[in-house]
Amino acid sequence: MRRRRPHRRAIRIHRSYTVDELARTIGVCKATVRRWLKRGLPAITDMKPALITGEDAVAFLQGRSRPKQRCQLDEFYCLSCREPRRAAFGEAEIASQTAYTLNVRALCAVCAATVHRRVSLKRIGQFLAAVARSCEQAQRRLKDTG
Ligand SMILES: [Zn+2]
Repeated sequence: MRRRRPHRRAIRIHRSYTVDELARTIGVCKATVRRWLKRGLPAITDMKPALITGEDAVAFLQGRSRPKQRCQLDEFYCLSCREPRRAAFGEAEIASQTAYTLNVRALCAVCAATVHRRVSLKRIGQFLAAVARSCEQAQRRLKDTG
């Protein structure tokens, strides 16, 4: 099976690659590399075959990857929305527990998919307060809108 993400660390920055070489090095199709060239991956095109420097390829792929989204204390990462979301109705339940952590389950406030997160027992008080606070804000907003 092919890798789902380009294997960026396989690129050597002091080497140059043809489209075919770069594709094989990082485990993507040649068509993918050609698409990147159209979208701004720099290449040395005054000779054939065109060459892509490893440095340019690494910089391009780093610019492409989205920054990690950290969840706030009262947020859950929703795999459907692909974004941090609040719990629907400010309700969450304990799905399971270990000696130091709770696995908390809730419904995504936007798409209603089940979302999970792990909360350390040390922070459970803060977590519950934050979830309750975001729920109060939501209720206030509902009242305000009528
Ligand atoms: Zn969602």
